[in-house]
Amino acid sequence: MDKRRRGQKPRNIVVFIGDGMGVSTITAARIFDGQSRGLRGEEHVLAFEDFANLALIKTYNTNSQVADSAGTATAILSGYKTNIGTVNVPPADSLEAMVLGSCGTDANPPATLTTKAKRSGRSVGVISTARLTHATPAAMYGHAVSRDWEADKDIEGPVLAAGCTSLSEQLVSSEADLFLGGGEKEFSESQIERFPGAVVRTASEMNAAPDGRLLGLFNSSHMSFEADRAETDEPSLAEMTRFAMDRLSANRNGYVLMVEAGRVDHAHHGTNAYRALRDMQALNEAVEVAKEKMGDDTLILVTADHSHVFSMSGYPTRGNPILGLVKSNDRETGQPDPDPVLAEDGKPYTTLGYHNGPNVRLPDSPALTDNMVQAPDYRQQTAVPLGSETHAGEDVPLYATGPGSEQVRGVMEQDEIGKLIERMLK
Ligand SMILES: [Zn+2]
Repeated sequence: MDKRRRGQKPRNIVVFIGDGMGVSTITAARIFDGQSRGLRGEEHVLAFEDFANLALIKTYNTNSQVADSAGTATAILSGYKTNIGTVNVPPADSLEAMVLGSCGTDANPPATLTTKAKRSGRSVGVISTARLTHATPAAMYGHAVSRDWEADKDIEGPVLAAGCTSLSEQLVSSEADLFLGGGEKEFSESQIERFPGAVVRTASEMNAAPDGRLLGLFNSSHMSFEADRAETDEPSLAEMTRFAMDRLSANRNGYVLMVEAGRVDHAHHGTNAYRALRDMQALNEAVEVAKEKMGDDTLILVTADHSHVFSMSGYPTRGNPILGLVKSNDRETGQPDPDPVLAEDGKPYTTLGYHNGPNVRLPDSPALTDNMVQAPDYRQQTAVPLGSETHAGEDVPLYATGPGSEQVRGVMEQDEIGKLIERMLK
């Protein structure tokens, strides 16, 4: 009986976060990945879509109906909701109170997942294709009233006086064993020197790194989009995941690993669906690796911090290229029509689009062609003009497999994910 009870809790926990990976992104990525394998696409299954346990997650922040990554990463990883833009600092009445509360000596914020995992004897890894000081990875190890406190230069005035430190400084003094991602420009020379382990900058240096703690900084800012990575010596998300699981499994007490596909979000903000979907493929390959290596003592969670205003619409025929113009079935014959459907303005439109963002469809916008819309740099059209497309507020999915995953069900508040992780550590 003891054995069975022990079996209900995982030794290892791997949390995948697709930044901005709403349901429409998952559906489009499924079709995109299927079509890249020569299928029609709709019937394809992504690596995490055979997990038996699934919930819908309510993503709002304490003071915002539509969330950002800082508040949501705090909920997912630390188990409590907080204000938009805030990393691991509980909400308070005023910004001043939050600064004094989080950086003062007498009111320390709740422990990070890194601290909790270390207390349980486990090792900790943090992977992100964004900067390692960016909101989601920072929520693994740091506290900041503003997510913008990435480098020492960002800490000044009353914030400095209150004793607050940058996220790069908090990373260097964190107990986590392994950091792999981007963002070298946020670190001072002294911080790099003080990191208590090896510092590597390419995939081959990572693979040759000595045992012990490791900091991989593969780009001065965010790592490259997967679509552009071939021209670099950066490792893929799957390569980093494989390396981390191999490395961290040396600890017999287990490990906690957070893997963020951070740039799905960035591509969406630019309404560049192609790069968002290529980064989704990279996440899918990383989950594939985790499934292959997991064994029966690992809990895998796959979720998103929030969604985007990304939609898949029109009535394209089965197997229509997901990035393409909408081509429907002929009403008379039921067969696919070779010509695109025209909108009220007499012009074709794409299956994928955004509610807001930079490339607004206007009366004088040129008529779209298949060549235009399937080019890697094409930005899908939007309705509301904004310099940067925004997050969306609807629920996101959480997929789970392994010990403890049966507790993932129904509609859950996002902070219940962090509470579930904490229970699994005990
Ligand atoms: Zn974003």
